[in-house]
Amino acid sequence: MTRPKCVALIAHDLKKDDMAAFAKAHESVLSGMKIVATGTTGGRVLDMCPTLDVTRLKSGPLGGDQQIGALIATGEIDILIFFVDPLTAMPHDVDVKALMRLAIVYDIPMALNQATAEELIAFQRAL
Ligand code: PGA
Repeated sequence: MTRPKCVALIAHDLKKDDMAAFAKAHESVLSGMKIVATGTTGGRVLDMCPTLDVTRLKSGPLGGDQQIGALIATGEIDILIFFVDPLTAMPHDVDVKALMRLAIVYDIPMALNQATAEELIAFQRAL
């Protein structure tokens, strides 16, 4: 039996409402997947969808982005959905960059905005 796909969810602060609503809208697809998320994002997703299988890592600025990068490097994450806030300076910008770099190195599907995330989820729904 193949393992369920694992999707990583991250949203910057001004995008967290969008991520929670996104998870709710796609709860049926996400319920067939394992989810890992940075701490606060995972909490918001669980508040909205308490039955989803969400593993919360550290908050992004405290190393959560790097934890997700490490899981990409070990082949444990299949899809990265990251709602990036492009208008706010982040103290952990280097971590964000490193995470995106690893998603490219390991060639996993990576959505950095909601429009692309919708396409990735629609593809999963069609599988
Ligand atoms: P958070 O981390 O979900 O813990 O807020 C996300 C980030 O800002 O990278």
